[in-house]
Amino acid sequence: MTTAVAPTRELTAADRCDRCGARAYVRVELPGGGELLFCAHHARQHADKLQRAGAAIHDESGALADVAANEDSAGPV
Ligand SMILES: [Zn+2]
Repeated sequence: MTTAVAPTRELTAADRCDRCGARAYVRVELPGGGELLFCAHHARQHADKLQRAGAAIHDESGALADVAANEDSAGPV
């Protein structure tokens, strides 16, 4: 059996929502092995459907607080 678990990858500013291109904060692992990235808005919109399909949803929007604090002190990017 080859059930190697890929190490959890943290989302970065380079990761973009598959729907709108905004920064992604939610990573979705599809049961078939694929991966989707969503911004908070589209993650909410699709969460129900994805969960019913058996997808694993990793909400990494908890990191938002740190990012916001850093951006505040550093000024607009
Ligand atoms: Zn989006």
